[in-house]
Amino acid sequence: MDYKDPATLLDLAMQSLLKNEPIIIQSLEEIPRELFIPLFTAAFLGGCKKTVTAIVKVWPFFCLHIGKLRSHETHSALLKAMIDGLQVLPAYASRGSKLKVLDLRQNADCRTTCFQIKTKSFCFHSCSYSQTSSRKRGEHSTVNLGSEAELSRYPTELLVDLSLNGTLRTRAFLSFLLSKVEQSSGSLHLCCRDLQIDNLSGCNNTLKLLNLLCIDHLAVEQASLNDINTLLSQMVHLDSLSLSKITLTSLNGKIFKRFLTQLERMDNLHDLNLSFFCLTNGLHKLLRVLPHGLDYLNLPFCELSYRDFRFLSQCPQTAHLKLLNLSNNSMTWEDCEPLQTLMEKVSGTLQHLEINHCLITDSTIFSLIPALSHCSHLRVLSFASNPITMSMLMRILQNLLPLMELKYVIYPIPVHCYERWYYQSTLDRQKLADVQAQLKAMLQAAQRSDMNWMTFPE
Ligand SMILES: [Zn+2]
Ligand SMILES: [Zn+2]
Repeated sequence: MDYKDPATLLDLAMQSLLKNEPIIIQSLEEIPRELFIPLFTAAFLGGCKKTVTAIVKVWPFFCLHIGKLRSHETHSALLKAMIDGLQVLPAYASRGSKLKVLDLRQNADCRTTCFQIKTKSFCFHSCSYSQTSSRKRGEHSTVNLGSEAELSRYPTELLVDLSLNGTLRTRAFLSFLLSKVEQSSGSLHLCCRDLQIDNLSGCNNTLKLLNLLCIDHLAVEQASLNDINTLLSQMVHLDSLSLSKITLTSLNGKIFKRFLTQLERMDNLHDLNLSFFCLTNGLHKLLRVLPHGLDYLNLPFCELSYRDFRFLSQCPQTAHLKLLNLSNNSMTWEDCEPLQTLMEKVSGTLQHLEINHCLITDSTIFSLIPALSHCSHLRVLSFASNPITMSMLMRILQNLLPLMELKYVIYPIPVHCYERWYYQSTLDRQKLADVQAQLKAMLQAAQRSDMNWMTFPE
């Protein structure tokens, strides 16, 4: 006899119920609470927008997170359907709905609803900055789900990640959000923790919608540093900051100093990503104001100098890095000691290293091999597009074989595969195929076929 997993049977039952949407919508107020989560999951995955809206209207728990759910239906259409079900004005709230936190963020580790014992409930993800909440970040007070007075005092929170990229779909979704906030007459807290902005100058109206205190991940592309300062001055606890193509006139001027003052307030910052941000001989000013022990540091296209690398190797901010990306900064100096010291320093924690397009030669990479072979947690190493010879590439491979966690290596095409290395169009594909075959054979001989060595022609 074929025994089925009970969860699968329940899923099948839900899918079959959903074939008749009007009936299921009519009976929602009578079905047991325990069935709401599997029913919501099936309706969301099946793209049943009307049912999703109806379920949100009578949701019997304090919070609802879409978590890791993904549907074949257009994602923004389903999110709109969920927001449609959110009853923010107490006068219109459906009887039986307890929903106070609607979370539309994709999050693989999040359950559909949080903690609940009998009638007491709280949400791990509720916001500390919603207007009527007096809680501090990280503290969770429980709410009595049976008490309508207590529930009505609690603000309704709508959690979304926003990417302001100027596309029609984004603009339509934003204007829908705006109308929902306006309709709520102040009783809905639109909470954005992760904000991505493609062009800051066109986003002022949207930013007025948001309480910037809620943001912990900020990514901005194309803006002046002055505008970034204005934005940062309204934030308090960024975990992650990513800035790309930011215009600034000088590392000695007032605007850069104001930027440093803003960064200095960010005690929680553990992920910094600056690209196309000219920092030549000024990296020390920036790193000094950051908290010690950053986890992730990305500095591609920052025109870093030898002096910057020396500081990088000495400062406490880089002592425990898990990820370091120094790609597209030229490392042509003869003294490799700063780079060696840096690699030794992070060897106990580093999991991901990128040094692509750095004009690294055989002698530089050779000097790094001892430190690299101490990076026992390294999982990804990418050093593509550097002028390295085949003999050095084989030597590196031999030395990295004992790193059992290292699974992905993106290596440079060796110089002999080109007629002239600087002209990537002169690549000889047969020579490259020979290189690939040779490296593969070496990995097989060492029983390290689990390690993927890859390369890509430009
Ligand atoms: Zn929750
Ligand atoms: Zn918030």
